[in-house]
Amino acid sequence: MGAQYDVVIIGSGLGGLVCGYILSKNGYKVIIVEKNHQIGGCLQTFKRKGVKFDTGMHYIGSMQPGQILHSFFSYLNLNKDVTLSPLDPNGFETISLQGRKYYYANGYENFIETLAKSFPKNREEIKEYVKQIRAIADASPINNLQEINNHIIIEPNIIKATVNEFIESITSNKELQNVLIGNLPLYAGVKDKTPIYIHAFIKNFYIQSAYRIVGGSDVIASSLANSIRSFGGEIITSQEVDKIICDSTHATAIQTKEGELITGKFFISNVHPEITMEKIESPLIRKIYKERIKHLENSIGNFTVYIKFKPDSVPYLNSNFYFYEFDDLWETNNYNPEKWPQSYLFMHQCNQKEMTFAESAELSGYMKFDDVREWENTTVGKRGEAYLQFKEEKAERFIKKLNDSFPGIMNNIEYYETSTPLTYRDYTATKEGSMYGILRDTNLPVQTYISQRTKIPNLFLTGQNINTHGILGVMIGSIITCAEFIGLNNIIKDIHIH
Ligand SMILES: Cc1cc2nc3c(=O)[nH]c(=O)nc-3n(C[C@H](O)[C@H](O)[C@H](O)COP(=O)(O)OP(=O)(O)OC[C@H]3O[C@@H](n4cnc5c(N)ncnc54)[C@H](O)[C@@H]3O)c2cc1C
Repeated sequence: MGAQYDVVIIGSGLGGLVCGYILSKNGYKVIIVEKNHQIGGCLQTFKRKGVKFDTGMHYIGSMQPGQILHSFFSYLNLNKDVTLSPLDPNGFETISLQGRKYYYANGYENFIETLAKSFPKNREEIKEYVKQIRAIADASPINNLQEINNHIIIEPNIIKATVNEFIESITSNKELQNVLIGNLPLYAGVKDKTPIYIHAFIKNFYIQSAYRIVGGSDVIASSLANSIRSFGGEIITSQEVDKIICDSTHATAIQTKEGELITGKFFISNVHPEITMEKIESPLIRKIYKERIKHLENSIGNFTVYIKFKPDSVPYLNSNFYFYEFDDLWETNNYNPEKWPQSYLFMHQCNQKEMTFAESAELSGYMKFDDVREWENTTVGKRGEAYLQFKEEKAERFIKKLNDSFPGIMNNIEYYETSTPLTYRDYTATKEGSMYGILRDTNLPVQTYISQRTKIPNLFLTGQNINTHGILGVMIGSIITCAEFIGLNNIIKDIHIH
């Protein structure tokens, strides 16, 4: 039987959708197969009491004309559908260290001057910090839309240093060190492991400009899906891929739990690599490789409280509020369960372009899978009373802690909902509800830098485990995957045209 499709993509997360867009635009007959009713993976939203909540895409950066994400959005025809609201350019992030507040401002000079007001003696160090993170981000060709003649996506020498080594080389001022890693949860950084390039890409990305997405991140998914369909691509939902069927040399088809058998010439998995490997039975994928992937550490998960405020009760906060009780922010991962939560990120949601009062917010903090492991064999909505009590107790602690920084806010909450790492595991199939997938580790550069290629020549990977996570990381990862089909420089040329 001839293959039905040129490319079968498993999963409709950002990675799957961007690959679907690029390949269908370039004439490939594409189908995307998604297990959930709703497409988008981390771009999914949900509604409670009339309010829409984001689940995994709260703010984005580098969206001014000429900046990198703006170029990608133009290429992907997203600018027409996505409305943005700028965060406060003089303080898009507020870093609260036991109540002492510091601000990240947009624009390199503004960032330096704003932090130098708090650290006047360290002005030159802050300057050097900005210079170095820019240099690291500039060393990545795709980040700068440069055509390249080899496959070096990131210069090997910048994978070698860890974030903490880099920060310590910049300044010995402990408070400034903490402030410079103040939005650590954006990459779930781990001391002595997380490579500096992850920190540098993310900091450089948001320092240039920072925006909330008006009305919810699902608009990114629906815009990409509409474009894919307009190019002749198909997207099917509520079909969970159970097997990637292979003959002795190639992948030939996917089989869903619901009974669909879809044949293709090429396959791309947007699913976590370990889960992808579990779906393959082929002598080409050796057991030792599956075991190696299985034993890689994944980034930490999170607990989130989705809050609806009473009408006109809470003034809109146009800054993301990062709170820490630790003396050393690298301790954030090793929180004491008795004292939890010792850190959190509080973000108001933007429902319309001009906001006076917040309608809703999200309060989010690290949570290890071990904290919810006793319910690991349960599914959404059927985890039992003890789990509901666990979530309720955590939510109460969390809101009380928030109230210390925002006195009286707890009285303005009309309704809340919660999620745990189990929620993410079940909605996106990421390993143990990990936020950003496999943890990049400077000590294991080869093992934790996952290739888009697999041992099966017509099966590729995409998504946040390729390149890095986040909107920029995943879009670049998708370009790297699609380069296998149409060539990296052809894609880069096409981006330049838009
Ligand atoms: C809490 C949180 C907050 C975040 N905030 C931001 C932010 O503000 N800004 C930012 O840039 N990034 C943010 N990120 C990161 C960003 O959302 C992710 O890196 C990115 O969306 C991941 O995209 P992906 O394509 O790799 O995979 P995913 O979004 O995980 O999608 C994978 C898809 O595959 C589907 N799937 C899985 N198994 C199967 C199967 N067997 N068959 C069919 N389909 C399957 C899933 O249902 C899902 O739709 C956040 C992440 C989290 C968790």
